[in-house]
Amino acid sequence: MIPYGRHHIEEDDIQAVVTCLRGTHLTQGPLVKEFEQAIATYVGARYAVAVSSGTAALHLAMMSAGVQCGDSVVTSPITFVASANSAKYVGANVLLADIDPETVNMSSASLKSLLNDNPEVRAVVPVHFAGMACDMPSIKEVSDSVGAVVIEDAAHALGARYQNGQYVGCCSHSLMTVFSFHPVKAIAAGEGGMITTNDENVYRSLLRLRSHGINKGDDVFLNMAAAETEGIENPWYYEMQELGFNYRITDIQCALGLSQLGKLDRFILKRRELAKRYDEMLAGFRFLNCIQRDGRGISAHHLYPVLIDFSSLQTNRARLMRDLRSEDVIAQVHYIPVPVHPYYRQQGFELGEYPNSQAYYEQALSIPLFYDLTEKQQDFVVHLLNKYLV
Ligand SMILES: *Cc1c(COP(=O)(O)O)cnc(C)c1O
Repeated sequence: MIPYGRHHIEEDDIQAVVTCLRGTHLTQGPLVKEFEQAIATYVGARYAVAVSSGTAALHLAMMSAGVQCGDSVVTSPITFVASANSAKYVGANVLLADIDPETVNMSSASLKSLLNDNPEVRAVVPVHFAGMACDMPSIKEVSDSVGAVVIEDAAHALGARYQNGQYVGCCSHSLMTVFSFHPVKAIAAGEGGMITTNDENVYRSLLRLRSHGINKGDDVFLNMAAAETEGIENPWYYEMQELGFNYRITDIQCALGLSQLGKLDRFILKRRELAKRYDEMLAGFRFLNCIQRDGRGISAHHLYPVLIDFSSLQTNRARLMRDLRSEDVIAQVHYIPVPVHPYYRQQGFELGEYPNSQAYYEQALSIPLFYDLTEKQQDFVVHLLNKYLV
């Protein structure tokens, strides 16, 4: 089987997890902090907070940004549902800004007109689709004009760079950036997520919310009478200051994440070579177009989506995917747009209101791209496209 994506685990990754298991901490130990510091250093952000998943990271980001019931949050129709769901978790309304057809990222022109009509928007969540960074300077500028904060969904984009060369996650153009360590993403921790920020108050809030809303480190106590005896802090005392969650990550997961992080550059380089090789091999196809080719030098290459003009072909996407599967190749569609899901449809969303997203969805197919994909397997995938695109 050749899947559309797969993690890559090496012997030293396994050893790192074993070492953790033989140690003193399975959770809330030193590896959490170490993983956080390693990610913060890698992306160039002041702070990083590790949590149990990318979805948990998005949820806490919403809370720490102060997004509340009745606020609105803008994201892209072409994303995994978690980007939109995190706004619903805090009771906010979801609004969608259509994509740019070439990058499949949120269009800042579309965002601008949406914010003109909805100045109550509290947060904007651009998604660095397939690992290629959005146009952050313009998204930040447009968001600033209505006082909305920017939270980057960088689940696809660990190791990617912006046009100016900075790493995605440095938060030069956002309040927070969110990553995922699900096995299909750039590096695996089993499950896991991270929020990066340069804002100390946001950082402290994230630390509390990740663990029930309980005070951390040098947070000032709110109930001084309960906190002290004779002016000295009570040894047993801690206090829950706001409603948080158990979104903690384990040291076991961080052991794997840390070990994998050391391989990230090598992983991305390989993906980049494979992506460029696809670009060359697919250039001659009449009814198939590659996207994001301008991003080849800076993308994290999480996915390799192509656009296929099925209306000019005798086949359709369902048949093509079945044909590929009969030859042990698994392609996938990224993503079923947010408005197509029944939960969002019931709230009045219609894909037709986002014409670029609709056009993309009609033609999109992600073909296999992962570290262990061999050139021979890649040749086979292209051969099959040749065979079945009739
Ligand atoms: C994977 C993903 C998430 C959620 O991450 P999990 O770690 O699976 O919770 C959020 N947004 C996007 C765009 C993703 O691809």
